[in-house]
Amino acid sequence: MDDHGFRAARRIIEILRAAGHQAWIIGGAVRDLLIGTMPPDWDVATSAHPADVQALFHRTIPVGVQFGVVRVRLMGAEVEVATFRADLGYSDGRRPDAVRFTDLREDVLRRDFTINGLALDPGNGEVVDLVEGIADLRAGRIRAIGNADARFAEDLLRPLRAVRLAARTGFSIESGTWEAVRRAAGSVAVVSVERIAEELKKTLLSSRPGLGWSLLADSGILEAVLPEVAGGPSVAQVSSALDASVGSDAETMWANVLWPIGPAGSAGTLRRLKYSNHFIRDTSETIRLGQAASRFPIEDRAAAKKLLREARAAAGLAVLAVWRQVEGLDDRPVREAREFLLGLGPEDLWPLRLLTGDDVLAAGIPRGKGVSEALCALEDAQLRGEVTTTEAAKAFVCRWSAKMPESG
Ligand code: ATP
Ligand code: MG
Repeated sequence: MDDHGFRAARRIIEILRAAGHQAWIIGGAVRDLLIGTMPPDWDVATSAHPADVQALFHRTIPVGVQFGVVRVRLMGAEVEVATFRADLGYSDGRRPDAVRFTDLREDVLRRDFTINGLALDPGNGEVVDLVEGIADLRAGRIRAIGNADARFAEDLLRPLRAVRLAARTGFSIESGTWEAVRRAAGSVAVVSVERIAEELKKTLLSSRPGLGWSLLADSGILEAVLPEVAGGPSVAQVSSALDASVGSDAETMWANVLWPIGPAGSAGTLRRLKYSNHFIRDTSETIRLGQAASRFPIEDRAAAKKLLREARAAAGLAVLAVWRQVEGLDDRPVREAREFLLGLGPEDLWPLRLLTGDDVLAAGIPRGKGVSEALCALEDAQLRGEVTTTEAAKAFVCRWSAKMPESG
């Protein structure tokens, strides 16, 4: 195992233990290591209190000291070091009201699923399994720790986490846990929209997004969090589109999901989910460009080039390609667009500007929006290959000014 995170976590645990504390790699990182995939983040659980952790390491970030969580930076990695804790009371199904520091056993029991409840000693490879997590891991099974209904009522994000975990591992959700997911589905919207949005994004970025999507639909979670795309024949289509797009960025995955409702609808949905403006723009732009590209072959070369030179054009074409296939349509527009693009260099898509605003004024166009309109028309003419020299550009603008209505 050659990974900064693992080596940092092992060293942190050595240091904590040398100071007389207990410490383990815990949770998702252990699950991933046992499955044989690289954990995206590393968590250490310890008997040390936050003040002890801060005293033992030079570089710490107190991300949630009241919950016992300190980030430690070591050997080029960042590891979350959290004091063994029990969550005290969930009054709102969103977050624990408070925590109490405790032992490994209780810390494991507060966790969501058995395969997320394993602790590993990185020194000797010993795994502590207090919840039969190993058996579930071997069986490929996602099972809640304790009573699933009660655990979901505490934190209604957990049903979404169950689905994401399935999409990530390919494991099946054990039947009792699955029934509880379905019973809780109608209530998951009490969770903050930011947490839901993050979980959905991670599900879409997993290696089995189509499975994730159909589980969201089958459980009823989709109806609760994304009513505008829940139900109907498009669920199976979205699943196929997502599976055909694995490895794409999050904007492209969301564009696949929201393709049926178009760019305007998608922007509204993503705004409700409180994604960043940048993210919303790139996603709805991907859909808009994909839809526009479905008109290929486009006769006007200027319009065709302006479409394909957009930053999200390749993503838009990818989504269009996937959806044409999902809907059983031929791939002609995508082929035509890609062929058109093939022979074009950057200078064809972004021709050099031949005139300045002053040149345009000199040609007799009055100050105001007429100037930028003339420059736009000139660029279109360049994109069509009708104008290639400064001389021709001047002549073009003179003709343009002659055509202009009297008061611009
Ligand atoms: P990933 O890192 O791939 O997102 P993960 O399971 O590691 O998945 P994290 O958010 O990193 O998820 O959480 C680390 C661990 O903390 C989990 O494995 C689980 O043991 C526990 N945990 C996280 N969120 C919850 C929750 N909402 N309820 C109970 N336990 C949780
Ligand atoms: Mg994790």
